[in-house]
Amino acid sequence: MEYFPIPVAKLIEEFSKLPGVGKKTAQRLAFHVLDMENEEANSLANSIISAKKNIRYCSVCSNLTDRDPCIICSSKKRNREVICVIEDPRDMVAMERTKEFNGLYHVLHGSISPMEGIGPEDIKIKELLQRIQHDTVEEVILATNSTIEGEATAMYISKLLKPMGIKVTRIAYGLPVGGDLEYADEVTLSKALEGRREI
Ligand SMILES: [Zn+2]
Repeated sequence: MEYFPIPVAKLIEEFSKLPGVGKKTAQRLAFHVLDMENEEANSLANSIISAKKNIRYCSVCSNLTDRDPCIICSSKKRNREVICVIEDPRDMVAMERTKEFNGLYHVLHGSISPMEGIGPEDIKIKELLQRIQHDTVEEVILATNSTIEGEATAMYISKLLKPMGIKVTRIAYGLPVGGDLEYADEVTLSKALEGRREI
């Protein structure tokens, strides 16, 4: 690193902080950026700044959005009495691709993981409860991942919601155990949704 001019070393350092990017890749990316036309490099930098500035959490569902409430929460065409609980914004994209779900979402931004020191208060469970207290909700579909953490999170939420008289269902994972929702294909996910069971 000490052989690089400071701005280059800094760029390499920033790239190496990205997930899945090792030192070698970070260097390759940094040199790629330096080879770019000014306009191209500006566009890359600006899109990072713009995404950070304009994207926030929807005040209703906690999904990433550039308007509040988000497109789905403000849509008149969605069934507001069904909420699908997911771990990650990318899971919503997977779910929407099935075209089988017409309710609203709630994004937890993680799952309960005692091993990693992530408790219920660290993810958006409180926001889900507040939502349910204010709106008429008939069913909550728990579509957290089929990992140990995802299952534990589903159980935890189910225990909180049942006394409130809400139908709580869990999607039927024909998915491999440990599988992330976002990697499931449309057919598998449609079946998982269709075969959901009350828990
Ligand atoms: Zn929303």
